[in-house]
Amino acid sequence: MELQPRETRPTDAVLGSSTAGTGPAAGWRSRVAPSVLLLGDPTARTSCYIGLDVLEDILGHGRTEPHCEVGGVLLGTLGADGPGPTAWVEDMVPARLAAASATHVTFTHETWVQIHHDVENRDDHLQIVGWYHTHPGFGPFYSSQDYFIHRNFFTDERHVGIVLDPIRVSLSVFGWIDGDVRRLPVCAVYAAQDQAADLEAFAEEAVYV
Ligand SMILES: [Zn+2]
Repeated sequence: MELQPRETRPTDAVLGSSTAGTGPAAGWRSRVAPSVLLLGDPTARTSCYIGLDVLEDILGHGRTEPHCEVGGVLLGTLGADGPGPTAWVEDMVPARLAAASATHVTFTHETWVQIHHDVENRDDHLQIVGWYHTHPGFGPFYSSQDYFIHRNFFTDERHVGIVLDPIRVSLSVFGWIDGDVRRLPVCAVYAAQDQAADLEAFAEEAVYV
């Protein structure tokens, strides 16, 4: 990686019952009163909602390759919630063929063929809403190559990118702000009501940087 990790700061976690269910109906929002955990600055507008299951799947994917970056795409719904564009991240598809090493992951032509094949063969209507990759042991941040991937392949203003360090259990989410890709000041993690204990455990463990 060409860039150094950002200086980290503690998670500002706010755990509570969701008021987000007033948004357009789809996926998780049809569940009864999900619990929501805000990561980052709770005073900023939340433009990204991520299912706890998705983060746990990414964590699991990352832990299968603790010495190598892994990645994939995020599936969900793009829309608007209140004042602006919003992404709801409801599932993930691992990029099985991504060229990867300890310090980078690349989406090759073959990767995209596999991803589109996997997405088209699903029986839901989720669309690609972003991408994810891991930084095992060196913290979440965007390298110059990560910015390149986001700017060139995830061009919708609602597309997001999750970077997760599966060893430190720290994450950042990036998205489009004022026409450029930046770290989002806040993102929301949601879980079904019966997963509230899991969400609380995640809040204890994970750090948003
Ligand atoms: Zn990276």
